[in-house]
Amino acid sequence: MGATVGLVVVSHSRALARAAVELAQEMLHGNEIHIAIAAGLDDTRFGTDAAQIVDAITAADHGVGVVVLMDLGSAVLSAELALELLDDGARDRVVLCPAPLVEGLIVAAVAAGGGADLKEVAAEAARALAGKIGQLGPAPTIPGPDGPRDADLTGSFVVINPHGLHARPAARLVQEVRRHDAHAFIRNRSLASRWVDAHSLSGIATLGVRTGDEVEVRVSGSEATETLAGILALAARHFDEPLTGATLAPPEAPSQPIGASLGLGIGPARSARLAPIALQDGPAEDPALEWRRLGNAIAVVRRAISQLRTRTAREVGEAEASIFDAHQLLLDDSALLDDVHARIDDGESAVPAWSAVVRDLAAEFAALPDPYMRARAEDVAAVGDQVLRAMLPGSASAETGTGVLIAADLTPAQAAELDPARVAAVLLSFGSPHAHSVILLRAKGIPVIVGAGSAVLSIPDGTTVAVDATHGEFVVDPPDEVEQDFRARIATLAQRRHMAHARAAEPAVTRDGVTVPVGANIGSADDARSAAACGADFAGLVRTEFLFLGRREAPDADEQMAVYSRIAETLEGQRITVRTLDAGGDKPLEFLPTTAEANPFLGVRGIRLSLAHPDLLAEQLMAVARLAHETPVSVMFPMISTLDELFAARRLLDDAIGRTGRPRPRGLHVGMMVEVPAAALKAAAFARHVDFFSIGTNDLTQYALAADRTNDSVAAIGDPFDPALLHLVRAICRGAAGHASVSVCGEFAGDERAAGLLIGLGVDALSVTPPAIPATKQAVRAVDSREAVTLADEMLSADSAAAVRERLHE
Ligand code: PEP
Ligand code: MG
Repeated sequence: MGATVGLVVVSHSRALARAAVELAQEMLHGNEIHIAIAAGLDDTRFGTDAAQIVDAITAADHGVGVVVLMDLGSAVLSAELALELLDDGARDRVVLCPAPLVEGLIVAAVAAGGGADLKEVAAEAARALAGKIGQLGPAPTIPGPDGPRDADLTGSFVVINPHGLHARPAARLVQEVRRHDAHAFIRNRSLASRWVDAHSLSGIATLGVRTGDEVEVRVSGSEATETLAGILALAARHFDEPLTGATLAPPEAPSQPIGASLGLGIGPARSARLAPIALQDGPAEDPALEWRRLGNAIAVVRRAISQLRTRTAREVGEAEASIFDAHQLLLDDSALLDDVHARIDDGESAVPAWSAVVRDLAAEFAALPDPYMRARAEDVAAVGDQVLRAMLPGSASAETGTGVLIAADLTPAQAAELDPARVAAVLLSFGSPHAHSVILLRAKGIPVIVGAGSAVLSIPDGTTVAVDATHGEFVVDPPDEVEQDFRARIATLAQRRHMAHARAAEPAVTRDGVTVPVGANIGSADDARSAAACGADFAGLVRTEFLFLGRREAPDADEQMAVYSRIAETLEGQRITVRTLDAGGDKPLEFLPTTAEANPFLGVRGIRLSLAHPDLLAEQLMAVARLAHETPVSVMFPMISTLDELFAARRLLDDAIGRTGRPRPRGLHVGMMVEVPAAALKAAAFARHVDFFSIGTNDLTQYALAADRTNDSVAAIGDPFDPALLHLVRAICRGAAGHASVSVCGEFAGDERAAGLLIGLGVDALSVTPPAIPATKQAVRAVDSREAVTLADEMLSADSAAAVRERLHE
């Protein structure tokens, strides 16, 4: 290939960039040119990164220059940053071209392929819209943030997420908007707020949208229709957030010490010594240099956050890791960067400019009325500080030692780094139970007290501190007898945990010799590893939704088969129970827009949704039918209420088996979840048509007691210890007798107090979250199955859940 002008495609989406390049290459008719892509944070996540753009420019530059084409918003800002990061010589050969991405790329590719020089290629690309304009007329004017224009499309939605449009739903909204070529502005109509750019996370978050607020949207541009439809669909799906946010965050901010992550811990006080950031900085240099300095720091922090996100997803969980997505978006926030840019252009140096803009933004959050939103000020400040520390050498955070960690507050990044083996507890003088750092610590099982008061900051390092986070209490330098009592309680807990872990891989056998298999509930491929490490005897529930949620298209049979067989392999060939897609209700699917329902939990959910889309279920059953030839598999259908539903699902399974062209796999067991009281009471009729029942106590409880499982206000009513639920379990076991086995896979199975009760009622197996397996097995080992029958009989005539608990406590 001779030296031709190189092209770089900068896009939020890697898939989009690749497709655009393929399209352009179609036009080249064999002429080869250098095209490099800098798009997406990875294959699936949207975003742009200046460092990636620098690499792409370097790859595309063969001495005669590079034309860079960008999609929109932060792609342009990142490209500008990248330009600043290049050496002077290389920078002079680069043109950032304002042409629209697809049209510009095609025209530029043809010009470059024909041997045009840098200027010609850039000029050709810049004229790329001429043909379309000739045909369709000029584009409508672009609206500013002052108010809707006639050409705008408008819409509105009411936010019902428990914490309003907080960081995670707002991040989903920004991601949705950034996927399209459109200008989108939103405002909080309930507060008659100003309009803000919907590409900007910080802008959206400062609208203070709380649950119940109405949000107005207006959109213009070539993909206005798709953008508006996408936003409204996302809003209808509650921004892909389960409406149980309250479980991640307790309801009120602390006015006194409160236990924000339960447990006990004792050890020497260790202050988290974070050197305060000294903002003194030399005089401002040339704005281009200052901008480059900031760009470098942002690139460093972006990489650090990305690594931390990966680690957190692996070690803690995907939901907790997603906290860092909002941090990444802040680094990419056009409104924030525009403000900093303006200050730098006015002669300020990067450090004070960044610091001032971040401080203002944090102050806006801190002034919001909702405590959960207010806690987001900490996230803004944390990311801001990370960038400042990256610009100011020598101000990096200090290592913390073993013991009780004491700090004013922690950033999510610091919390993610803490090792539960070294940190006995965390005492925060301020802090909020809603803070992302605290959410992370809860997930790691580290006891935390927030709002402990500023006096704790003067506890000298090394002083013994005993923390009872369960009761929101701590004792500094406890008297001997208190310390001994604390240590004894912690030792007993640790010993029980240790013993349970040591025996985790052994089967769980009751005192009188009945083996009760204890399986794992798996909600991601990572969970399978954790299940294996925790001694799972089988996978009693593979919640396959994780493969379907948040996707634009359903996974096909091949993809599903690959994931299920990886789970089975991780569990070394133990039986896995694949539950067919259980969507609808609180788990909407992006690719299956459903009509709004007044009572989604009583609507088209579970098997009802699958039978309404038989192709979807057929594809999943195909994966199961093929997998069952390789490894022991059980398949079960969720939320069955009638025999007709079970028959219809079984017919689709038989069809799938027929389509494999192979005989029925011998190891394939077929079952159903019992989650609807009607199914429990008809258990005998169902039992003749299944190999097993799996009782979903989470749903069975909510339906039996008419207590929405996502509504904290009725949580006390939806109590699985209620004798009514015990009667239903007994009915299921009686109906199953002689035909089908019975396991329990709802959360009740993981409550150590429930093991004897369930065994006594006739349950054969239990399936629980992986970390609960060792303790559940220990609970089984303490049971005598004959005594358990007597106990269960007694409990069936109890008056209330409280009476059942009390009796079990005895
Ligand atoms: C249940 O309802 O108990 C159950 C295990 O299913 P899910 O929690 O996934 O609805
Ligand atoms: Mg359920």
